[in-house]
Amino acid sequence: MSTGADPRRDELAHRLSEVRGRIAAACADAGRDPGEVTLIAVTKTYPAGDVRRLVDLGVHDIGENKDQEAAPKAAELAAAEALVRWHFVGQLQRNKAKSVVGYADLVHSVDSVPLAAALDRAAARQRERPLDVLVQVSLDGDLDRGGAASGADVPERDLDRVVAAVAGSGSLRLRGVMTVAPLSWDPPSAYERLAEVAHALRGEHPAATVVSAGMSADLEAAIAAGATHVRIGSALLGKRPPLR
Ligand SMILES: *Cc1c(COP(=O)(O)O)cnc(C)c1O
Repeated sequence: MSTGADPRRDELAHRLSEVRGRIAAACADAGRDPGEVTLIAVTKTYPAGDVRRLVDLGVHDIGENKDQEAAPKAAELAAAEALVRWHFVGQLQRNKAKSVVGYADLVHSVDSVPLAAALDRAAARQRERPLDVLVQVSLDGDLDRGGAASGADVPERDLDRVVAAVAGSGSLRLRGVMTVAPLSWDPPSAYERLAEVAHALRGEHPAATVVSAGMSADLEAAIAAGATHVRIGSALLGKRPPLR
């Protein structure tokens, strides 16, 4: 397939086949169908040209963590009529809700009652259909790293309250949960704990079937625990510069 004309495309194709191989192996180990696992390429810090290359290689789910970077990339890809589903995976300020609602297909990082309200208002004004969202779960209660936690000291970051705010809003659709594994936890325990949270949530909200978990270093543990969406940055695109 290599034409030699675009070495970056060749590099991305090579890394993509490695990541797809890891996902397939993890699914085989877990007795799961690889079709159940969506690969999201997290393209933060990489240019829109890389998004175009990935789309060209068949990756249509693209993740970004900062609105200021995602909005212009989304505009560029839309102008090129590229088929992209945008996943917003980063901590989100309420004042960015309007912008994010303009391009995001799935917001993974809803972690407070006021953020849910801001997204709901923006989605009601700007969209014909409800916005799909996940509630981000903080497993260790360290709210500075994002997420809502069971029994959080800050009521607006309490997991049950955030879930209720999303479920009760007219223009958001609760699709599931997301987590970033706490730094000091081993990934299997983190993702098994998230699976319990996801299971309990589905008892009340059967449409909340998405489990967004797993990054470059630990996608196998996430898939073993039932992740439906893995968010892969560096294994696909390369190591990001430490300062950004
Ligand atoms: C950057 C990022 C990822 C991808 O991380 P890698 O380790 O590069 O795969 C996943 N999720 C979130 C929320 C991120 O910010």
